[in-house]
Amino acid sequence: MVDTFARRDIRKLSLEELKQFFIQHGDKAFRAQQVYEWLWRKSAKDFDQMTNLSLATRDMLKSHFVINFIRVDNMQRSADGTIKNAVTLHDGLVVESVLIPTEKRITACVSSQVGCSLACKFCATARLKRMRNLDPDEIYDQVVAIQQQCELFFGRPLTNIVFMGMGEPLLNYSNVVAAIDKITSPEGLNMASKRLTVSTVGIAKMIVKMADDAVKFNLAVSLHSALNHVRSSIMPINETNSLEDLGEALKYWYKKTRKKVTYEYVVWKGLNDSEEHAQALLKFCKLVPCKVNLIEYNPIDEGEFQQASDEALDMYMHLLESNGITTRIRKSRGKDIDAACGQLANKIN
Ligand code: SAH
Repeated sequence: MVDTFARRDIRKLSLEELKQFFIQHGDKAFRAQQVYEWLWRKSAKDFDQMTNLSLATRDMLKSHFVINFIRVDNMQRSADGTIKNAVTLHDGLVVESVLIPTEKRITACVSSQVGCSLACKFCATARLKRMRNLDPDEIYDQVVAIQQQCELFFGRPLTNIVFMGMGEPLLNYSNVVAAIDKITSPEGLNMASKRLTVSTVGIAKMIVKMADDAVKFNLAVSLHSALNHVRSSIMPINETNSLEDLGEALKYWYKKTRKKVTYEYVVWKGLNDSEEHAQALLKFCKLVPCKVNLIEYNPIDEGEFQQASDEALDMYMHLLESNGITTRIRKSRGKDIDAACGQLANKIN
């Protein structure tokens, strides 16, 4: 009889562990390779899909393991083509992922945690309690689901992945890196690391760790202010992780990886829209080679925060560009379905 309580999620096993399993059960180690391919490259959800295994082997696997998979329970499509998925995890918790199509690219925006612990004042996810970290397979599966939507709805492949969904990726570092390993490996999705970007509030010691680990993906930092008192007032993490600490970590990152950093920056009316703030950003930008994305604010409240005027954005643009810093204004996508940056909060429209 199958003891359901003893069955483990097979995707928690490494290829090596799976090989050991087959050897211990009197089978050939190469079976592990076959199973691994079914589990990752082909995203099999059922052992009976593994048709190159004998029925006996499949039954043996069924008696020891389950395959946990995410479920896209609700999909919403924006007028601009953006798709938002409500993704149910095996324990019933829900996260969101977003597909963002443009002419040249399709980007998947994925979540790394259920909820978030960081309490950034302008972000809807911050209002959800952090429940748990996502496992590597749960992050991977969000990408697979979006990849399938790319083919189904757009007839073109997924080109980029950003870790800008719910949660703070660097507070779930090992699982995020394990998911990225699968996404970039030939047994998985075989995507190029340079197409992946991890976005963080800027946890200095984790940026140093990433540099030491010589990661190959890109780094984006949600900066929003280069003045400590202002940044601390909107992003509590800054109180214990100052701009000076962040700057030192970024210098180390650049020295080790030679990779430019992207700063994400919202300009808000009355908060950081004057020349003094833009000058502070320029000074910060001189620490390491970088580019700046000025992102449009997506309102999540009753008006406490408001998008700055076009003149303020032009002032930032001009100052940065005239000093050689590549700067882009990023328009929101998927606002009508609460799929834009900072709006992910499991709210069904
Ligand atoms: N925790 C990570 C990733 C999730 S947030 C991080 O902080 O980078 C993804 C991006 O959306 C961040 O740059 C964040 O600052 C930004 N963001 C959050 N709320 C927003 C809002 N209401 N409008 C626009 N951008 C927002």
